[in-house]
Amino acid sequence: MRRLPLAAILLFCVSSLFAGDAPVVSILSYHEVVPGGVPPFKTHPPPGFPDNPTEANRYTLDSKVFAEQLDYIAKNYEVIPLVDLVDYISGRRENLPSKSVVITVDDGYLSTYKEIFPLMQKREMPFTLFVYPQIVDLGKNYLTWQQIAEMAKAGVDIESHTFSHPLLRAKNHPEMTPDAYGAFLKHELLDSRNLIEEKTRKPVKFIAYPYSDVDPTVTLATRQFGYEAALYDSLTGARLSRSTRPMHLVRYAVVHDTSLDQLKAVLP
Ligand SMILES: [Zn+2]
Repeated sequence: MRRLPLAAILLFCVSSLFAGDAPVVSILSYHEVVPGGVPPFKTHPPPGFPDNPTEANRYTLDSKVFAEQLDYIAKNYEVIPLVDLVDYISGRRENLPSKSVVITVDDGYLSTYKEIFPLMQKREMPFTLFVYPQIVDLGKNYLTWQQIAEMAKAGVDIESHTFSHPLLRAKNHPEMTPDAYGAFLKHELLDSRNLIEEKTRKPVKFIAYPYSDVDPTVTLATRQFGYEAALYDSLTGARLSRSTRPMHLVRYAVVHDTSLDQLKAVLP
């Protein structure tokens, strides 16, 4: 292979630095959205979550606040499907709008169907639901497979949030033998994927890790069980670009008291 002259390499580096319109993307995650911002029933903790009363409403937003955030985003950014971002950073897609936002929703609360879905549809915004099968069909405040299938049919991207929403790292399961831990990862990563695919009749390619609990072993297993991209949260979010690795997509979790200014600070 011929070596590039140093001048050409320098020119490339400098032009990349100053490419003002290089696409930048932020990913947001939401959980529950209900009128008034207080869940009508006790929904936290759902199965899999530790019981922590101070966290009760932390992940629940007022529908009005959510709608205002969507309107702000609509005015200033393009909302793109997660798959477009993954295709772009994987080299399967040429370009993206210069500033865009990916919207994701976690877990599987009824409000995904009752509140979030219509508010997003009204604005023709795509979104991804990361659902874990153990929460589905559990009762009046959780999604049913029928509602999930209906949303999938309407174009909502339904992906995996594991099977039962556990911590995934081996250090959090000291009681497990290596074999038991392998079987545990297989169940959480592969069985969830297979079941969601069966229910939606669409491929599942992405995962959001519960509690953002991930290490290189978990990442390796995630790849091994067929996922193309993995997401976890950080307190500051991240502005993602072409060099972002698909197994390390960082999101910003919008919570009950996230202000519009805080939100603006994490957007591209
Ligand atoms: Zn979750």
